[in-house]
Amino acid sequence: MKIGITTSLPVEILYAADHIPVDLNNIFINGDAENYIRIAEYAGYPRNICAWIKGLYGVVIKKNIETVIGVTEGDCSNTHSLMSTLMDQGVSVINFAFPHNRDYQQLKSEMQNLENSLGANHDKVLEVKKSFDEIRRKLIELDKLTYKENKVTGQENHVWLVNSSDFEGDPLSYTERLDSFLIEAEKRNPLQYRFRLAFLGVPPIITDLYDFLTGLDSQIVFNEIQRQFSMPYLEKDLVNQYLRYTYPYSIFHRLEDIKVECKKRKIDAVISYSQSFCHRQIDNILIKKYLDIPLLSLEADSPGELDARTKLRIESFIDMLKYS
Ligand code: SF4
Repeated sequence: MKIGITTSLPVEILYAADHIPVDLNNIFINGDAENYIRIAEYAGYPRNICAWIKGLYGVVIKKNIETVIGVTEGDCSNTHSLMSTLMDQGVSVINFAFPHNRDYQQLKSEMQNLENSLGANHDKVLEVKKSFDEIRRKLIELDKLTYKENKVTGQENHVWLVNSSDFEGDPLSYTERLDSFLIEAEKRNPLQYRFRLAFLGVPPIITDLYDFLTGLDSQIVFNEIQRQFSMPYLEKDLVNQYLRYTYPYSIFHRLEDIKVECKKRKIDAVISYSQSFCHRQIDNILIKKYLDIPLLSLEADSPGELDARTKLRIESFIDMLKYS
């Protein structure tokens, strides 16, 4: 059975129970995004609600997805209402929570409940984890090809990592394509550019950001949250793997990771992205306060290309880096 997921969660459990996870975010942004939003707005979703939430609703309805796992703690405060409106449309909803206090036992119990709900055998879950670690190892290689060898673009890095949330519903095919990509990328000449940037925050709803930055002699060599989706720490224990995953917990956990990675990747400047009407915009206050690197805050509302004003802000920011 295809099961919709609203953000990265322990997909090992879904695969072990012979289900196929479908990351609704990726279907939304890679499909007819405006139409998905329209479906939600026709259903009564307000204009000033984040486009991703409306998009997820639209995808579930349009694609007739019968079951959705909603992450009701550690992701988005709007998920509760999203789940209620989906239940009202006859969708079966399973709740999953990343405990805000990052408590091992609580997370373990959430994962056990998910195993029970889906009928997953725990030994099988651990077997799946082992096989996924091999894919995660390859994604670490891909990341190194981005920030160490400069052979993978920021956009390519973004696409591979963001799709690791569900391995596109087919881990075998994902791995085969990843293997071919790595072989091809290793043969490339290193990219030449002046500024090494970090992209912080939820994946962008903007479609041409990476291309636009390339045109300004810059590359994103650190996609923060996308990298988190790939579970890059290779923890032996599955519960620990999802405890180290920084996205669902406090901004201070994210900051620890961001600081280490910015230093390791010799980041010149940071783009801190937030979605319009998202509670995570408030986290930006602390990101700005605790990161000692030039930072540009970007915000976008609807899916599509950069608007003229945002382009001008990015150009001015890069100019400032040139002359500072
Ligand atoms: S961008 Fe923010 S408001 Fe929108 S779905 Fe994600 S967490 Fe929720």
